[in-house]
Amino acid sequence: MQHSKSLDLFNKAKQLIPGGVNSPVRACNSVGGQPVFIERGDKSRLFDVDGNDYIDYVMSWGPLVLGHRPPEVIQALMQALETGTSFGAPTHLETQLAELVTQTVPSVEMVRMVNSGTEATMSAVRLARGFTGRNIIIKFDGCYHGHADTLLVAAGSGVATLNIPGSPGVPQTVTQNTLSLPYNDIEGFKQVMAQQGDQVAGVILEPVAGNMGMVRPREGFLETLRKETQKYGAVLIFDEVMTGFRVAKNSAQGLFNITPDLTCFGKIIGGGLPVGAYGGKKEIMSQIAPTGPVYQAGTLSGNPLAMAAGIATLTALQKDGVYDTLETRTSDLMNGFKAAADEAGIPFQSGHVGSMAGFFFTDRKVVDFQDAKTSDLDRFAAFYRGMLAKGIYLAPSQFEACFVSLAHTKKDIDDTIAAAKAVMAEI
Ligand code: PMP
Repeated sequence: MQHSKSLDLFNKAKQLIPGGVNSPVRACNSVGGQPVFIERGDKSRLFDVDGNDYIDYVMSWGPLVLGHRPPEVIQALMQALETGTSFGAPTHLETQLAELVTQTVPSVEMVRMVNSGTEATMSAVRLARGFTGRNIIIKFDGCYHGHADTLLVAAGSGVATLNIPGSPGVPQTVTQNTLSLPYNDIEGFKQVMAQQGDQVAGVILEPVAGNMGMVRPREGFLETLRKETQKYGAVLIFDEVMTGFRVAKNSAQGLFNITPDLTCFGKIIGGGLPVGAYGGKKEIMSQIAPTGPVYQAGTLSGNPLAMAAGIATLTALQKDGVYDTLETRTSDLMNGFKAAADEAGIPFQSGHVGSMAGFFFTDRKVVDFQDAKTSDLDRFAAFYRGMLAKGIYLAPSQFEACFVSLAHTKKDIDDTIAAAKAVMAEI
C-alpha cells in the first residue's frame, strides 16, 4: 500500500497548520505513523488520495452511525442548502430536532443547540454552577469532555495519549474547583461526597467511557452517582456526546435506566455536521439566557444545515431493528478480534456497548484509566499499522473507541476479522 501523496500533503500541511492537523490525535503520533489524507467516504469505506480504500471504524469519531454519505442525510442537506446556510434567526428545523431529542431521551425536557461537544459540556458545567450557586465539579480520570479549561484536568483522549496532565495555558485558579476521581470507584466517590458534597455543583461523566478506550460502568457506579448527587443537591451531568443515540436509541441513560439532570450530546445528533447540545430538566434549563441569568450563546448555533442533517439521522434511527443490527455487527467484530488474539496467544481484553467497542492488549480487566494504561502500546501500534496496511482504518490511538455503522455489512466484519487474524499472528 502506497501513501506518497498523503505524505506530500502532510508535509505541506505541517508548514501551515500545527502538526499538520486540526485536532491532535489525527497526526497518528502515538502509533508511529502519519495520517492518510482522505479524498472521500462512501457507506462503510474511506478512500484516500493515493487510491487506497479502507473499511472505516472511526466514522468521523462517532457521528456517522448511518455510514458515509447516507442518501437521506445528503437529500436533507441539499434541500436545506437551497434555502440558505445560516440566518442567525430561529427556524422550525431547530424545534424539530429538539422534539426528536426530547421525545427519544425523556430526561431531556428542554435542549439548547451548540456547535461542538466541548461547547455542550462547558455550558452544562456553567449551568450546573449557576443553578446551584456552588463551584466544585467532579469528573473522572480518563473521561474526556472536550477542551474547555475547567474540564482539562487529567483528561483522556488526545491528552492521555500525549500523557500530559491538563495543559499549559490553563491557570490553576481555573481548575482548582475541578476534582478528578478514578472511574468506577464507588467508595472513593462516596467519601469525597461525604466530605464536600454540599459544595459540589455538578458531577460529570461519560456513562460508558470512550476516551480511555472503551470502559463500561461497573454495576452500581451510575446508581451511586445518581443517589449521592440527589442526596447532596448536586447536578448529575451525563456526557453522552459519544454514547448518545449510539449505545441505544434512548442513549446510555436509557440502557442503564438512570435519569441524569443534564445531558450533553454531540456527534450523532449532528449527522456529521458540527453540532453539540445540552439539555435536561426544565427547572434547570430555564436558568439559561434569555429566560434565566446563566449566559450562553452562539452565532451559528442551530445552523440549518446541521439541524437538517441531525433530523435526518435521528429519524433514520427511529426505525425498528436498527440498534439490533448495530449490536450484532459490533458483537461479531469484537468476538472475532478476541478469537484472533486468543489464537495468537496475545493477552487481550475487548468489549462493546451497542455499536461502541474497544479493546486493550493487556491481561488485566479494564475498569478504569489505570488499568487501561497497562495495555501494551507498542503492540497496539503494531496492530494499528498492520490493520491499516490491510485496508482497515482504526482509531490511531489505544485510548479511543471503535464505531460500527449501519453501513457496515456482514462481509465488512468478516473481512476485518480475517485481517485481524493475519495481523495478530505477526505481532
Ligand atoms: N465529550 C465526549 C465524551 C467526547 O468524546 C468528546 C469528543 N470526542 C467531547 C466531549 C468533545 O466534543 P468536540 O470534539 O465536538 O468538542
